[in-house]
Amino acid sequence: MAVPSDLFDDARAMWDELVELRRRWHRIPEIGLELPRTREVLLEALEGLGLEVSTGEALSSVTAVLRGGRPGPAVLLRADMDALPVTEQSAEPVRSEHEGVMHACGHDLHMAGLVGAARLLAARREEIPGSVVLMFQPGEEGRHGARLMIEEGVLDAAGERVVAAYGLHVFSGQVSSGIVTGRAGTEFAAVDTLHVTVHGRGGHGSAPHAALDPVPVAAEIVLALQSAVTRQFSIFDPVVVTVGKIWAGTKDNIIPATAHLDATVRTFSPATHGEIEARLRRVVEHVAAAHGLTAEVEWESGYPTTDNDPAETERAERVAVELFGPDGWEAMADPVAGAEDFSYVLHEVPGSYLILGATPPGQDPLTAAYNHSALATFDEAVLPRAAALLAGLALDRLSQG
Ligand SMILES: [Zn+2]
Repeated sequence: MAVPSDLFDDARAMWDELVELRRRWHRIPEIGLELPRTREVLLEALEGLGLEVSTGEALSSVTAVLRGGRPGPAVLLRADMDALPVTEQSAEPVRSEHEGVMHACGHDLHMAGLVGAARLLAARREEIPGSVVLMFQPGEEGRHGARLMIEEGVLDAAGERVVAAYGLHVFSGQVSSGIVTGRAGTEFAAVDTLHVTVHGRGGHGSAPHAALDPVPVAAEIVLALQSAVTRQFSIFDPVVVTVGKIWAGTKDNIIPATAHLDATVRTFSPATHGEIEARLRRVVEHVAAAHGLTAEVEWESGYPTTDNDPAETERAERVAVELFGPDGWEAMADPVAGAEDFSYVLHEVPGSYLILGATPPGQDPLTAAYNHSALATFDEAVLPRAAALLAGLALDRLSQG
């Protein structure tokens, strides 16, 4: 067995220090690619572990390489670091001291979990056959931080390309505390944004024939997009288009010159993700053209699909069960329709991204405040599990050679 039988016990023994570390980060959340205070605490937490530490150029990332005592390949473990523009109203034991900023997505727990994994691995350094790259990443929330770290060489930080990559995300709802879940194939959607401006010609509301009214055209585009979703894509590879914002005009009796709409577009396979932009553009532009107007499309690319390698996800299940028992793992039936930028890493190397339930005790996972909510509260009891799972995945993969 490649996962040491005392790994979870050792992780539980560091519960206090992981909680304290997590709370330090919870008090000082920062947004985006530059997280100076967060990084300061992280660098301090990694001191004395004998790691090769380097910091990013385009973002305040930290890459730390742990060299095992025996030869072997390199694997990567990742934690994201950034917070959200949310005013905290949680039931956490400590609250954000930064006005209007909150660790509402649990990335503070991710950092503490990965520091815990680093300590577990450092304590076993001599027996480790290979290297572990620790990827601490800012800018997960829409800033493509993982892509920037790949551009700066994180996948080759050990001097060779990593052979596998793992990460996890805590959920303050949906999944019971302590349960690890994941799925082979697509786990998170690709998310893009469609911005449309319909250009017409303004005029008097009493004389539409003398104008080019963009409002009914925009309305027709909203419905045509839904028809395209159901008629042009396989029902077994779903697409979600939601027009969440639509606006035009100033007054009931004035035909405006333009109308606008914004839609979120979610796809669940690389193939469909590759086709969706062209198809939606065609619908939008041609509906406008049918009425003698034009429509301008701006396509804002978000994150690609997060694709878990089947063999690495089987490994994750086995490691979770070895560490936490058969109740510690639940298969995930459907992908999550949110997006995650660890997707960029998983498009380069095989790996698996796991969900770790952190619903507060006594709360129903289905109604507990979920990630990104001002009320989101995470169960800190999961920290040793996060540390043991990440360390266990690295050790199990490295023992394979
Ligand atoms: Zn997150």
